[in-house]
This record gives sequence, structure tokens and C-alpha cells, in this order.
Amino acid sequence: MTTTHAYAAQNAKSALAPFEIQRRALREFDVQMDVLFCGVCHSDLHQARDEWRNTIYPVVPGHEIVGRVTAVGSGVTRHKVGDLVGVGCLVDSCRTCASCQEGLEQYCENGFVATYNGTDRVSGEPTFGGYSTQLISDEAFVLSVPGNLDPAGVAPLLCAGITTYSPLRTWGAGPGKKVGIVGLGGLGHMGVKLAHAMGAHVVLFTTSASKIEDAKRLGAHEVVISKNEDEMAAHANSFDLIVNTVAAQHDLNPFINLLRRDGTMALVGAPEHDHPSPQVFNLILKRRRLAGSLIGGIAETQEMLDFCGQHGITSDIEIIPMQQINTAYERMLKSDVKYRFVIDLDSLRK
Ligand code: NAP
Ligand code: ZN
Ligand code: ZN
Repeated sequence: MTTTHAYAAQNAKSALAPFEIQRRALREFDVQMDVLFCGVCHSDLHQARDEWRNTIYPVVPGHEIVGRVTAVGSGVTRHKVGDLVGVGCLVDSCRTCASCQEGLEQYCENGFVATYNGTDRVSGEPTFGGYSTQLISDEAFVLSVPGNLDPAGVAPLLCAGITTYSPLRTWGAGPGKKVGIVGLGGLGHMGVKLAHAMGAHVVLFTTSASKIEDAKRLGAHEVVISKNEDEMAAHANSFDLIVNTVAAQHDLNPFINLLRRDGTMALVGAPEHDHPSPQVFNLILKRRRLAGSLIGGIAETQEMLDFCGQHGITSDIEIIPMQQINTAYERMLKSDVKYRFVIDLDSLRK
């Protein structure tokens, strides 16, 4: 057992505050790491405040983790002490169901083990995430971080990166395809960078006029203010794929109207309250598809990290000390972050 400094929420209304946890003794295939950086995902806020109504308290959020390996179990072969590694939203799954066998651990039919607010399959204890100085995970769920990338900028790839990479790959973003990204936050800015690198024509939809220049710098070929009906109408029936990252309930119809025949809108934003049902005829008449997508499997996450290594892609970040997490949450709610907060865990080690 190792005493680990962390930040936790004690209930849905409490601010995050210092908390001590005990990390387990190393199992045969465990990798132990010092957490260097942890991204701040909107899902952390949803769960700290029980907006998905499934939070186990106290909760230590954080699933965009980059760390340095400090110890390994006797059976570990994939990572060694000193390696720079990543952990995303998953730390275990059943490994035997059809989804796990296909490398789609995030859809594990027996339930994956989330990095936090999950339940360890061996001990039955709750899992605690990366808002902490140390983390332990089975080696099968630990990723290798490309050496040429800034470690702090890599952290958000472990959730925001893979959550946008996976639907872009699933629905074929690439040359000759017109791809929309809705919302320029943590997920959205990664979606823009990745879709651009895949060779698609990228259109960013935003509610924030102040983000137009940034969106172009990040790789959007066009930017549309989604509240402007004329700007929206100019793109009717033209998109192969739209990835919707918005963290709040909204009307989906204006975006579905922009899909061409057989086009798909993949929802990745996971708001507290469901969107109103879209108009059925809007889907039927053009065989349009409304889909969802959950993060990505371990193999695809490594593929995404390697893709980012090859293309020199990291997240645009603002580094904060752990002590500023509550202010960061309030700023994230106001869409006031460019474009991901990343916690420097040295701030908790002092
Ligand atoms: P974020 O950084 O807060 O970005 C969300 C963006 O949505 C904002 O920057 C804003 O973009 C837009 N937005 C916010 N409120 C809006 C509103 N009322 N109407 C229209 N647009 C609004 O959040 P994030 O970390 O990227 O996460 C986005 C969502 O994805 C969250 O719900 C999160 O839980 C979910 N998520 C899902 C998965 C998955 O596997 N499916 C994984 C990770 C996160 P503009 O200012 O550009 O309009
Ligand atoms: Zn996340
Ligand atoms: Zn499984």
C-alpha cells in the first residue's frame, strides 16, 4: 500500500479538496507510476457533481493521465521503470467477451473498469483517478507515449483525443470527405486537429464568435456560428460526418439537416439531460444516421497516440496547479478554456 495525495469531491455539492488514498500493493501485471500531468475533462465535472447519477463518493476524478513508471509487477513485459506512459478512461475489462476480444474494451459486455468511479474486478474497491500523485494499472491498459511529444500536451489525448479519433476513423474521415465538429472545447479542438491531419475538409461549429480565428489556426477550413441560420443553411445536405461534442442539451435538428444522404452524426457529448428527440422524417428521407461513440479501445488508443506522434499533434493546454481545480471547473462551464486544463501533479507533491 502506498499513501497517495489526491483531490476528491465528497458529495455532489462539495468543492474538490485534498484527500489521501492508499494505492494497492503491486499485483503480478501491475504498473505503478508517478502521475506527472492529468487533463481536466468535462466528464470529470459531470461525475464530481453526480450529473450522470452514478457517482460513488468520495470520487477522485482524472482520466487523461501521463506518468513515469516507478515500479512494475513480476510479470510485466510491456513497460519498464522510467518509461513515459499514459492511462485513459479504462483500467480493466473482462477480456473475454466478444467486444474485449475485438479490442473494443470500452464496450465490454460485462462492464469495463473505469479509471475512477469504477469498481476493481479483484478487490471490489472503488477506483481513484489521476487527480493524484500516483496511479497503478494493469499493464494491458497502460499506453506508450511517443517520445517526441510534450508530455503535458499529450495528457488530453488519452480521452479528448481518442474520443474524437475513434468516430472519425469509424465513419471514414479522410480525403474527399466533409467533416463537421460541433463545439470547440477539449474534445472539439482535438477533433479539428485530427480530422485535418486525416485529410478531411473540416468545418467547425461554435456558439462562440471569439473562437473563429483559433478554430482556423487549429485546422478548420471553415467556421460556422451555429446560432446563425443563414450560415447553417449554406451547408445543408453536404456533410458526410458530424462529430457532436457539445456538453449540454440542445436541438439536434439543425445539424441533422446538414448531413447528406447516408451521412452520420455521431454524438460524443454526454450532457446531464438528454437532447429532445430529433424529427424522424429528417432522418428517414435521407437515410441519415444518428449514432453515438464511447472513447476508444486500448489498441485504437495506442494507434491514435502513434498517429499524433507522427503528425506532431498535442492538445492546446493551460497548465494549472491542483489547488486551482475548482476555479478551472467554473471556467470550463463558461467555455473559458483554450482548450484543455492540465493539472501539474508536482503541485501536490510539494
Ligand atoms: P468542454 O471542453 O466543456 O467543451 C464543450 C463545448 O461545447 C464548449 O466549449 C462549447 O463550445 C460547447 N457548448 C457548451 N455548452 C453549450 C451549449 N449550451 N450549447 C451549445 N454548445 C455548448 O467539454 P469536453 O471536455 O470537450 O467534453 C464535451 C462532452 O463530451 C462532455 O459532455 C463530456 O462528458 C463528453 N465526453 C464524452 C466522451 C465519450 O466517450 N463519448 C468522452 C469524453 C467526454 P463552443 O464555445 O465552441 O460552442
Ligand atoms: Zn474524458
Ligand atoms: Zn469484456
